[in-house]
Amino acid sequence: MRRVYLDNNATTPVHPEVLEAMMPFFRDQFGNASSIHWAGREVKKYLDEAREKVAALMNAAPEEIVFTGCGTESDNMAIKGVALALQEKGRHIITTQVEHHAVLHTCQFLGNMGYEVTYLPVDSYGLIDLEELRRSIKPQTVLISIMFANNETGTIFPVQEIGEIAREKGVLFHTDGVQAVGKISIDLKKLPVDILSLSGHKLNTPKGIGAQFIRGGTKISSLIHGGSQERNRRAGTENIPYIVGLGKACEIAQRDFQKRQDHLLRLRDRLHQGIIQTIPHVELNGHPTKRLPNTLNMSFLYVEGESLLLNLDLEGIAVSSGSACTSGSLEPSHVLLAMGKSHIVAQSAIRFSLGLTNTEEDMEYVLEVLPRIIKRLRDISPLYQKRGSH
Ligand code: PLP
Repeated sequence: MRRVYLDNNATTPVHPEVLEAMMPFFRDQFGNASSIHWAGREVKKYLDEAREKVAALMNAAPEEIVFTGCGTESDNMAIKGVALALQEKGRHIITTQVEHHAVLHTCQFLGNMGYEVTYLPVDSYGLIDLEELRRSIKPQTVLISIMFANNETGTIFPVQEIGEIAREKGVLFHTDGVQAVGKISIDLKKLPVDILSLSGHKLNTPKGIGAQFIRGGTKISSLIHGGSQERNRRAGTENIPYIVGLGKACEIAQRDFQKRQDHLLRLRDRLHQGIIQTIPHVELNGHPTKRLPNTLNMSFLYVEGESLLLNLDLEGIAVSSGSACTSGSLEPSHVLLAMGKSHIVAQSAIRFSLGLTNTEEDMEYVLEVLPRIIKRLRDISPLYQKRGSH
């Protein structure tokens, strides 16, 4: 059976060039980058080079990059690190209702510790009201944490404008760039962002490596104490093979940027058009244009997303649904609910997230299989029989 992987916002396959770049560091290049002898010096060179490549992708300076274990760790470091460093100034944080749980649960943790957190609502595209953001800032606000692009819908936030408001009010701005880095162009020399989090495995490295951009001079406490690695920002012997892999992935993302954009957009739009043309009662979730080039989130009304996901899986197609299965009950996505979508729309959502390995044949295969499955599921759906009443 054909296998089509359309869940690249969850994770991506490892790029062969990334794996190749990593291999020597599992074999001969085993040194500790902190050692001053030859074994250490050799790997230190590659550590520095990887840092330069990650920085170059976002037009940052190498000394502004800190390697972490994953995107979740970067988000935690940013939010808790600023909250700790600036607790004398105040204990108020602003975020949105549609963040990834790495941000939401970190904010909730701080909420339990006595911090005040404002969760900004979003409109039907998943975007915040900038005036509401401005009004939410108080003298005791220490951090604004708003994602660059949403992982479920792909909606891209106005990071430039958010950063300008943060600057004007003297508040630090962290953006969760996990889904954005490598997919859209990011210039940190121009963007008023203080901290940005990213993750390797969304960028074709193996899982277990992340990074953070911290603009020079930003006040932030370290969460991991020990040695003086990463300029005392994150102690622990550096994970050289994975760091080298992330460097390579960023180098490739920069090198192939336009090619990738064109490829993803072309395939995604073919899929979108094909769905609209062949399947009735569908809705796009997310912004029609301000959206990641690889993400297509659609609701297939009167069908349960989870059933659709399982049926697609039986045909070899891997996607993600807008619901998370928690203790046996289907919880509609917090992102779609925050966008004002009804339970029917939210529960019938499917996210197709494309990647480097996808082809036109993949799209044609999905467009051949999907209408058939939808028809079958609708034929047995009581909701479909009673349609018109929601
Ligand atoms: N933030 C966003 C927007 C994400 O999509 C993800 C992963 O899905 C994360 C953070 C967490 O990244 P990691 O899986 O590297 O911990």
